[in-house]
Amino acid sequence: MIIKPRIRGFVCITAHPKGCAAKVRQEIEVAQAAKKEGGTKKVLVLGSSTGYGLSSRIATAFSHNAATLGVFFERPSMKGKPASAGWYNSVAFEQAAHKAGLYAKSINGDAFSDEIKAQTIETIKADLGQVDLVVYSLASPRRTDPKTGETYKSVLKPIGESFTNRTLDTDKDLVTEVTIEPAEGDDVADTVNVMGGQDWELWMDALDEAGVLAPSAKSVAYSYIGPEITWPVYTNGTIGQAKKDVERAAAAITEKHDCAAYVAVNKAVVTQASSAIPVVPLYISILIKVMKAKGTHEDCIEQMVRLFNDRLYSDDLQLDSAGRIRVDDWEMESDVQQAVADIWPNISTETLCDQSDYAGYQKNFLNLFGFELPGVDYEEDVEVELDLPSAGQGIGSR
Ligand code: NAD
Repeated sequence: MIIKPRIRGFVCITAHPKGCAAKVRQEIEVAQAAKKEGGTKKVLVLGSSTGYGLSSRIATAFSHNAATLGVFFERPSMKGKPASAGWYNSVAFEQAAHKAGLYAKSINGDAFSDEIKAQTIETIKADLGQVDLVVYSLASPRRTDPKTGETYKSVLKPIGESFTNRTLDTDKDLVTEVTIEPAEGDDVADTVNVMGGQDWELWMDALDEAGVLAPSAKSVAYSYIGPEITWPVYTNGTIGQAKKDVERAAAAITEKHDCAAYVAVNKAVVTQASSAIPVVPLYISILIKVMKAKGTHEDCIEQMVRLFNDRLYSDDLQLDSAGRIRVDDWEMESDVQQAVADIWPNISTETLCDQSDYAGYQKNFLNLFGFELPGVDYEEDVEVELDLPSAGQGIGSR
């Protein structure tokens, strides 16, 4: 099948298997170039198929020789249609890890469910004994509570009053204005239910209870703070409340288990999750230009290599006053933020390509789905049905 990008709003409904493999190879090369010596690590990555979770898996495996068990919710190829990008990423990751002599297995299914937690624990017991690091990198629009069976939806809304600001219509390449109405009813509670820390705590409880958490293990979940222009829709909005709950959960996990749990605040990057947030894609387009000019531009893999090499697996975590790991440090440097703030009020559709790196944003976005990667022949007829080498296709798939 010849696969072309088919973009619908902020998602691409097709993915290219060879392109995804090329992107995974690029990330592996970055991780290998930063290789560290040290004992073998055993890492469970929840949300390991795309974005920060995939890069966490690649960084721990290829910089630190980690055995990795990945959990994700992806769509395998069905009826001749391409699989989702995260499926192809995971196939490529496992192939590369196995070639390098590293353990890598994956479980595809709903990480919020008791079934997938049980299946993960059985796999750890059978293959690894215990894990010494748990990375929590799920980003989902909905969650079904395993105890009540109720399904909650997360929303990206301001709290208290409506919010109007510039945004990017990536379908039409337009800088426009968006007004987002404030959260109402159960919006805040529902978003905290989906993206807050409860499921992270349930995972840690289940792992500890089953005896598969190594003594003095570590765990990390990811958060974002960003600049004031995005605060109404992010940090001070519904998702910000969920992230506060993740910080609460980090303290609760550390208190309850023999495990140091951290929140790492990462920089804004183009992922399937971030491209859905209003205002943020325009901010990222400007940020890419400013940080490239300064020589500090990073994507997911560079961030995760720095997180593990210079913070989590180093002697100095460089925690902030709230006890968080900060790898958004270069994004938040005052000259970077000032440069973005200077551009923000003046950017328009006409100046988009001059005042931001919109081309860089678009390339990053297409790369997420395996398109526009160098060395890939997009006119070639490719096989779309690829099995995960570990064949751990799990319970339920979407
Ligand atoms: P992403 O969309 O690229 O990845 C989400 C992952 O979660 C995928 O592996 C997906 O398969 C998995 N997933 C979703 N629902 C699932 C379910 N029910 N069961 C199992 N797996 C499921 O997202 P991302 O941007 O890498 O976000 C990961 C974390 O990083 C989030 O906590 C996010 O808030 C945080 N973060 C993101 C940014 C950014 O700019 N993208 C910045 C800072 C922090």
